[in-house]
Amino acid sequence: MTLAGKRAIITGSNSGIGLGVAEALAAAGAEVILNSFTDRPEDHALAADLGKRHGVTARYIAADMSKGADCRALIEKAGSCDILVNNAGIQFVSPIEDFPVEKWDSIIAINLSSAFHTTAAALPGMRAKGWGRVVNIASAHGLTASPFKSAYVAAKHGIVGLTKTVALEAAGKGITCNAICPGYVLTPLVEAQIPEQMKVHNMDRETVIREVMLERQPSRQFATVEQIGGTTVYLCSPSADQVTGTTISIDGGWTAL
Ligand code: NAD
Repeated sequence: MTLAGKRAIITGSNSGIGLGVAEALAAAGAEVILNSFTDRPEDHALAADLGKRHGVTARYIAADMSKGADCRALIEKAGSCDILVNNAGIQFVSPIEDFPVEKWDSIIAINLSSAFHTTAAALPGMRAKGWGRVVNIASAHGLTASPFKSAYVAAKHGIVGLTKTVALEAAGKGITCNAICPGYVLTPLVEAQIPEQMKVHNMDRETVIREVMLERQPSRQFATVEQIGGTTVYLCSPSADQVTGTTISIDGGWTAL
């Protein structure tokens, strides 16, 4: 399918799922805008390389998704936005009694409030064109909980609610809003959790991956960034014109349990 002529903004896309989604959208012909909070030469080089490989325009715009004004400025600096992928996210694991307040605030800001700000800023342009796609990268934790992830689970359930609300507000206007709910995908965010899990469970890397991390993922296989990217491209295709306000799980059966 071709997304030529469509401009996609993917928040938190200099690594992991966001970068995989940007690759898939660029491969489908979209212009892509990568983002993170850093503004290093390598961030801009990453966008330039991606654009060159896929023969599309690709830019990197620095904006801190923990700050509402930055979220809105990202959309403004991009010029317009046909496809908005709210992907930026962080994780922190702790019993609620000890959960640092600043971590709670950061997770809610980056994983949930950023999508409120970017969507609010992008929707008027989508309405004017009569076409738009908002894809929120939620999580299996948007549909189910795990202990010690209070902020993450609250933010991800929140973004599923936001998804439904935006879908209703934009219904019938050529604009859809959906959430993708991945199970475990091996990205830097997940990689960073492995040492802590090894320590907590006193297990080696392979055992902790199989027995702890993928314990709730019946396939016992990680989902891939390519699968998340492919699903995003599907949501941007005419086949998904009437798919709105829903969640698509890519979790190896986790939420079927
Ligand atoms: P990652 O750490 O590889 O990527 C996170 C991205 O967000 C990075 O590009 C990072 O630079 C960016 N980011 C962090 N703070 C930011 C900020 N303040 N402003 C702008 N960008 C910021 O992690 P990932 O696994 O690719 O996660 C991407 C999304 O997918 C997250 O929302 C995460 O919750 C969700 N998710 C991941 C998994 C998984 O198993 N990896 C599963 C379900 C959902």
